[in-house]
Amino acid sequence: AKAEPGSAWRFFERAMAEELNDRRLMEHDLRAAAALGELFMVYQPQACARTGRIQGFEALIRWRRGGDLVSPATFIPIAEECGAISAIGEWALRRVCGDAASWTNPLYVAVNVSPVQLLDTGFVELLHALLLETGLPPTRLEVEITETALIRDFLRTLTALRRLKALGVRIAMDDFGTGYSSLSNLRAFPFDKIKIDRSFVSGLDQNGQSAAIVRSVIGLGRGLGLPVTAEGVETESELSVLREEGCEGVQGYHIGRPAPIETFEDLTRPGAAA
Ligand code: C2E
Ligand code: CA
Ligand code: CA
Ligand code: CA
Repeated sequence: AKAEPGSAWRFFERAMAEELNDRRLMEHDLRAAAALGELFMVYQPQACARTGRIQGFEALIRWRRGGDLVSPATFIPIAEECGAISAIGEWALRRVCGDAASWTNPLYVAVNVSPVQLLDTGFVELLHALLLETGLPPTRLEVEITETALIRDFLRTLTALRRLKALGVRIAMDDFGTGYSSLSNLRAFPFDKIKIDRSFVSGLDQNGQSAAIVRSVIGLGRGLGLPVTAEGVETESELSVLREEGCEGVQGYHIGRPAPIETFEDLTRPGAAA
């Protein structure tokens, strides 16, 4: 059968309309997610590369929408665009600070902060209030900022990061190597840690280029006096290269997968679990 003229276009239009509808629905559901109790945090251990000791966790958000688990890689960008990120970010910060404050073992916790949230007026005051409210010492909190965040508004970002640091929290540059002008960012902003992006870590034991990049980032960190943590460590062989190169921190499925905090009870509350 010959297609009617214009039918392909109408099909396309309908698909577009559906997509827009899905998107609006997702924005709507996202705004309600925290209040409905659909959000939860999982924690992924970060270890010392040399000793293997767990030193802290990165908190990662999860959204159970109806029966489905939606990836933060999908919903965080949408939340940023529609403005829901502020409420979601506040929910996450309060939960993470509260969780970490209750651990009898004073491990640190790293939390991802969206650039949109970082530049919210009152963000630093909010974080300060949450630290007081939960009783979490600021030295146990690390804020992870992606590199791409830094190019949005240089001066406001710099001011926000300086004020965060003045509270006593540490600041990690996340996904290092994937953004723009990485090197000048390292000099301009008050970072305490560099996290090498998973794309350079994965297969670095097999790929000479990845290995060269990882080696130089570790050297860069050393020169700047900043510890380096490698993300996405999936094999013993990757881990041993990182160890040999003198990488300080490691995180990835080989160390531990993100999981609800109860999974790590023996670490967060040693002696408490029977
Ligand atoms: P990210 O901050 O770079 O987080 C690391 C991601 O890599 C996580 O994905 C983690 O589950 C995954 N991962 C860890 N180890 C491995 C590994 O060995 N292999 C592989 N293949 N993946 C590994 P996740 O949890 O899906 O989060 C995706 C992104 O969403 C995060 O990337 C972060 O940018 C964002 N995100 C997650 N939670 C939050 C949050 O609470 N707030 C904000 N603003 N963003 C968040
Ligand atoms: Ca991160
Ligand atoms: Ca990362
Ligand atoms: Ca990432």
